[in-house]
Amino acid sequence: MNVGAHSRGEVRRTNVNNLLALVGGSGPRLLLFAHADEICLMVKSVSEDGFLHLWTYYRDVDGHLPTRYTPVNQPGLVVSSTGNIDGYIATASGHVLGGRPGKQDRLVWNDIFVDVGAGSAAEVEALGIAAGSRVIWSPLARRPRGNIVGKAMDDRAPLAIVTLVGEALATRDDLPYEVWLGSTIQEENGLIGAASLADEITIDLAIALDVGLTGDIPGPDKRDFPARLGACPTIVYQDSSCHYSQILSDELIAVAPSATIPIQRSIFQHYGSDGSALIRRGVETALLTCPTRYTHSPIEMVSERDLLNTVALLTAFCATSRASLND
Ligand SMILES: [Zn+2]
Repeated sequence: MNVGAHSRGEVRRTNVNNLLALVGGSGPRLLLFAHADEICLMVKSVSEDGFLHLWTYYRDVDGHLPTRYTPVNQPGLVVSSTGNIDGYIATASGHVLGGRPGKQDRLVWNDIFVDVGAGSAAEVEALGIAAGSRVIWSPLARRPRGNIVGKAMDDRAPLAIVTLVGEALATRDDLPYEVWLGSTIQEENGLIGAASLADEITIDLAIALDVGLTGDIPGPDKRDFPARLGACPTIVYQDSSCHYSQILSDELIAVAPSATIPIQRSIFQHYGSDGSALIRRGVETALLTCPTRYTHSPIEMVSERDLLNTVALLTAFCATSRASLND
């Protein structure tokens, strides 16, 4: 089926490696999108004895590792020019440093490094690793009691959601939108990829998919973060970066009863999403999130039930005209 100048099933990679895929349908152009990047460390130099020194993926003004960002003592992967190289994000232990650290001691970036088991800088170079190589943590994902736990659920889980929605809609000819799926680069360091999406295609409305914050663990104030894991997708009306479309957000809620999906509503502090980059470009945008515990850690936890309910909600939304929701 041809949709305007585009063909159903068309997948396009943009110059900066965003991906756009046409699912099908006719009507206003609707984009469901999530980001493909994950938080990482960067190799800045290699020691003569083969250890990789690191800085972070973001603009650091503090000089220390953030107290609650703990990449240390994790299995990792170095993304090198020859492939993904196993390594360990490490720091010297108290046994060899002597004594206990003071309460105020915080790690600085040169306290941590990656050990790939190499004995020399030449061996590291032969692995294709150099300054500019990226390092991610890589513990194996696990599935405890209906949940999925692992690294980069932010934003792998929402990418899986939009993929499943695309598969569910791929053979339908009655969609009241021209539905596109999108994947963006460099969300984590400033919504960089999303900024050019509106230059690639004209977008009438968009739903950004990302991980959502929950307050259902020891520590957070539930007055601040009322959303819970397993209690279904969360519509975010506002975060640190913007206010999302109230109309589109309410329409997502309006479609939920017909799909028998409970829904949570939130506003988030200390949080931003690609959605704000599209709003800046004049695209009406909502933010739909999948409740996630321990965000930006190697044990991000999502609920399979929430993932499937988010798929059901989006599938129902894409098949329902806005006019019928506002009757
Ligand atoms: Zn994210």
